[in-house]
Amino acid sequence: MTQFRRQSLVAYGQPLCETVAERPTPRGTEVLVRIDCCGVCHSDLHIQDGYFSLGGDKRLDITKDRTLPFTLGHEIAGVIETAGEAAEGVAPGRRVAVYPWIGCGTCAACRAGEENLCSNNRHLGITVDGGYATHVVVPHPRYLLDYAPLSPDLAGMLMCSGLTAFSALGHLGDRAERGPVLLIGMGGVGMMGLSIARALLREPPLIADIDADKRAAALAAGAARAFDPSDPQARRTIMTATGGLLAVCDFVGSEKSLQFATGVLGRGGKVVVTGLFGGTFSIAAAMIAIKAMTIEGTLTGTLAEARELLDLAKSGKLATIPTHERPLDHAESALDDLRAGRVVGRTVLTM
Ligand SMILES: [Zn+2]
Ligand SMILES: [Zn+2]
Repeated sequence: MTQFRRQSLVAYGQPLCETVAERPTPRGTEVLVRIDCCGVCHSDLHIQDGYFSLGGDKRLDITKDRTLPFTLGHEIAGVIETAGEAAEGVAPGRRVAVYPWIGCGTCAACRAGEENLCSNNRHLGITVDGGYATHVVVPHPRYLLDYAPLSPDLAGMLMCSGLTAFSALGHLGDRAERGPVLLIGMGGVGMMGLSIARALLREPPLIADIDADKRAAALAAGAARAFDPSDPQARRTIMTATGGLLAVCDFVGSEKSLQFATGVLGRGGKVVVTGLFGGTFSIAAAMIAIKAMTIEGTLTGTLAEARELLDLAKSGKLATIPTHERPLDHAESALDDLRAGRVVGRTVLTM
């Protein structure tokens, strides 16, 4: 009997523990994927905590979304092992990335292809067991995407931070081609956004970050100009140079980043927000109409966007990100290091 080993969340706010179970048997359209690697993501820390900080002492409780023990991990690449009798096109041995943002399939969001926004979802590693494990059960083969010739760790990461950045840029629509785009926050998602923007847009984007090292890294990766939002002159410099921007992505999502983002908009401009940093943002209500402003949130991306992004990456146009591999049973120390800010680049668990 093949063992099914997992690093499981057995209590919120506590270290992960190894749990061993019988290998699941896929039924119907289900596919059992033997996992090669699973990325460790910042959002895994929030799930381990059981809450999102909303700023101040306000918290969004997220403990009701799953039953314990629970397996984290949503940046998964692996190999098809077996499948249920109704799963089609699932040759065992096929190497696949797993699209994790799986919906109920029947609600209005799912029917519109936005399973990532389904409120009755089965998101892997978020509401149903994910990839800190030797295997994962995927409900239908359509969520399995061929990633060759990419590396499995890149393919897994593209399903989360890559997809988030790709979808945010997509939500800018044609505004992204009507003038320079500004990307705020050059963390993991922001650097992916820069790489994707360089591949997709005519003009290299502007970037903003309060950290000088991150600004330097973004300039080295091809940003046209870098701004420090904490510099009181930054807003005026952008307004003078551009007359106001039409397209801004806020990968931070804090009070200050949103103030900066909305402050540099021209008339008809749009801010797409993916960041979850927290805090409370206020704006003079009349400015929304006076500037004909759009503020739109996005959350990961759709299955169709995931396919488009993989195609873009396969064309060789995206920059790679430094990755550290750790064995599955080091999952807790990987989370600890991420929490303590000791990680440069990305961490991937290998099985
Ligand atoms: Zn993630
Ligand atoms: Zn749904």
